[in-house]
Amino acid sequence: MTHMTISVAAGKGGTGKTLVATSLAVALNQDHSGDVEILDCDVEEPNAHILLHPRIAERQPVHILAPQVDEAVCTRCGRCAEVCEFSAIAVIREAIITFPNLCSGCGACAYVCPVDAISEAERNVGAIAIGATADGIAFYEGRVNVGEQRSGPVTRAVKQHIRSNAITLVDAPPGTACPMQESIEGSDYCILVTEPTPFGLSDLRAAVDTCRSLGVACGIIINRDGVGDAGVEKYCVQENLPVLLRIPQERAIAEAYSRGETLTHAFPEWVESFCEMFAKLQSHLSVREVT
Ligand code: SF4
Ligand code: SF4
Repeated sequence: MTHMTISVAAGKGGTGKTLVATSLAVALNQDHSGDVEILDCDVEEPNAHILLHPRIAERQPVHILAPQVDEAVCTRCGRCAEVCEFSAIAVIREAIITFPNLCSGCGACAYVCPVDAISEAERNVGAIAIGATADGIAFYEGRVNVGEQRSGPVTRAVKQHIRSNAITLVDAPPGTACPMQESIEGSDYCILVTEPTPFGLSDLRAAVDTCRSLGVACGIIINRDGVGDAGVEKYCVQENLPVLLRIPQERAIAEAYSRGETLTHAFPEWVESFCEMFAKLQSHLSVREVT
């Protein structure tokens, strides 16, 4: 399978997840030019653009349908508040109050209202930037508005751009909570980037459990290899997790990153390493599919 969706995630921020996602995109684009796209789903702090320098051609607003209550029609029965999973609508005595920043736009409240007192109006929650890099990688970046409590609608809007005939790389947000899960869900594979330290191991365990609970196959990249201890290596052996790549702790790599360069742009010899890793990842996936 050449066309596939690969998410790149990490149990915590600052492990080099975006460096991996962007470097892999650059490497794969050399053999599959025009066939590679990257989706920055780290919608609260998207930063793949800092390493890829895309030219943005278009910005699309993302809206949700938020409830608007006609207080003259509302009987204060409270059904809308009961059905709302996010406590975004409340009935307190004679008052009915909505909390737009908590609303996911699911429409459940309008659906259950027995007197059709709820209509829905578009509310802007973020935007998608669409463009391409100088070497032809299609680029999509989601960005949620400051103050929004729910990133899901923007993540889902970005993921609608996944092409079935492309190699899609999804840069997921750090952690293992809902935003990360929404980003990696549906991927063919998830690369988990970690550091060989007790902190890295602790967060890696949670990230592996999350992938497994979502049924997404995963493999590991150890960044800053050479620091810390052997805990991550032992865990990978114990859990039968492939270590796809090791990126050493080197001053030159850190300096390139601080200049806003991907590994593969700064050090072209890494193109081969990332392409070999992609082949390893595909074989891990096909072994899983056969067994
Ligand atoms: S379900 Fe409808 S009628 Fe009942 S409290 Fe909500 S808006 Fe009012
Ligand atoms: S649309 Fe969904 S999330 Fe928003 S207030 Fe209604 S039930 Fe709650």
